[in-house]
Amino acid sequence: MPSETIKIVWVYPDLLSTYGDRGNCIVLERRAKLRGIPTRTINVHSDEPVPVDGDIYLLGGGEDRPQILAAQRLRADGGLHKAVEFGASVFAVCAGYQLLGHEFGGEEGQPLPGLGLLDIRSGRGEVRAVGELAGEVDPELGVPMITGFENHQGVTRLGAGARPLARVAVGVGNGDGFEGAYSGKVVGTYMHGPALVRNPALADLLLGWAVGRRLEQVDDTWSGRLREERLRAVLPG
Ligand code: GLN
Repeated sequence: MPSETIKIVWVYPDLLSTYGDRGNCIVLERRAKLRGIPTRTINVHSDEPVPVDGDIYLLGGGEDRPQILAAQRLRADGGLHKAVEFGASVFAVCAGYQLLGHEFGGEEGQPLPGLGLLDIRSGRGEVRAVGELAGEVDPELGVPMITGFENHQGVTRLGAGARPLARVAVGVGNGDGFEGAYSGKVVGTYMHGPALVRNPALADLLLGWAVGRRLEQVDDTWSGRLREERLRAVLPG
């Protein structure tokens, strides 16, 4: 493999792939290819060990029970922890985001142990958050306003070791006025849509981390039109 090949690991498509989040994989592959950077994607099912030598790990959303099973198996496996220790980045959506934290709410809202890779705690909220979500991203990350679709019962609180990914402009997100969280190269969001399709700058952030440099711009006419259309649809005024 050429040394710059980016290894993308799609974690547990059998459990965490309910909401089309695999689109995040496709966008990473495509945007790497546009820069002439080869990628290799590995789908790791929940009965397989998680490889520790990946560059970018993707986790999608899921229903409560598959989420619980995924957390149990990832905790037992330990591969994702090692990969993060070795410097890999993680992009996790909704159920995947919640299970990266210290704890999350089970199907009755009971607290269950997560992976502890992000300093967050999730539990069950009063009402289900369903609809469009948009937010101003932490300026540190250099990513313009993000948009997505949320569908979750969980609410998330950040500890001192995590920063909010964005300040909510439309929708609910974590339930505290912020949306998502990140720490180092571990990023979580409530945005389905899938998130990287609607927010290609986030994809470029992950790819840039993987190759250790800022990527050159590509022609974003079509993804730009989708963004414009979504922003017009959701933002007041
Ligand atoms: N089961 C979790 C919740 O409802 C995650 C849902 C999802 O991934 N969309 O909060």
